[in-house]
Amino acid sequence: MKSTGENGDDGKAGAARRAMVELIRRRGVRDERVLAAMARLPRELFVPQANIATAYADAPWPIGEGQTISQPYIIAYMTEALALRPGERVLEIGTGTGYQAAVLAGAGARVWTIERNPVLAARARRVLDALKIEGVQVRVGDGYDGWPEEAPFDGILVTCAPPEMPARLTEQLAEGGRMIAPVGPVHGAQQLIRLRHAAGRLTAYEDLSVAFVPMLPGLAAAARE
Ligand code: SAH
Repeated sequence: MKSTGENGDDGKAGAARRAMVELIRRRGVRDERVLAAMARLPRELFVPQANIATAYADAPWPIGEGQTISQPYIIAYMTEALALRPGERVLEIGTGTGYQAAVLAGAGARVWTIERNPVLAARARRVLDALKIEGVQVRVGDGYDGWPEEAPFDGILVTCAPPEMPARLTEQLAEGGRMIAPVGPVHGAQQLIRLRHAAGRLTAYEDLSVAFVPMLPGLAAAARE
């Protein structure tokens, strides 16, 4: 495995990564822990079939199995929205390549991530292990269930779009917890919804318009189809 160097100074990939982070910063992301995590991570190793230019372009990219990884700016934006403090516990729905989970871990979180597709989950696990990224638990399962044995979570980040905010997930948010999820129809207007659990109440805010792959019905539901 290629070394990425301590300060990201590894030639072509390093230059592309620095340009990506500068663009994200110019677009308004200020959380230094998030920016530093993205400045360190070799995104090209997560994203299959990408070259350096496509891996670091500010655009979504196909990751196989009919799925896509979000553009780097949206990943940074959503991670920043969780306002993480080091050591906080985060649940991610939709592991995909494992890149978002690695950004969360790099920003100091402990991560539990659920992926419906076993091929993607296995590949993500391999990349995370190869990069010796610690503190990320990957499970094959249905994100609609969340991870009740490990709840509550300080942050919940959903990277596929459910038609409505899933109640079983919001129930797993700790007091003081933050959640962000793209919500809306498969081929229609989706919006990032931010939730805060404070003083025993959930408050929701509508945020950016987005386009995510759908959050599909669970494995059991799929088997019944
Ligand atoms: N966060 C990922 C990108 C995720 S793409 C990354 O950093 O690469 C959305 C992912 O959600 C896909 O991998 C898809 O298989 C998964 N997904 C869709 N419905 C799901 C569900 N109900 N439970 C868990 N994962 C789901």
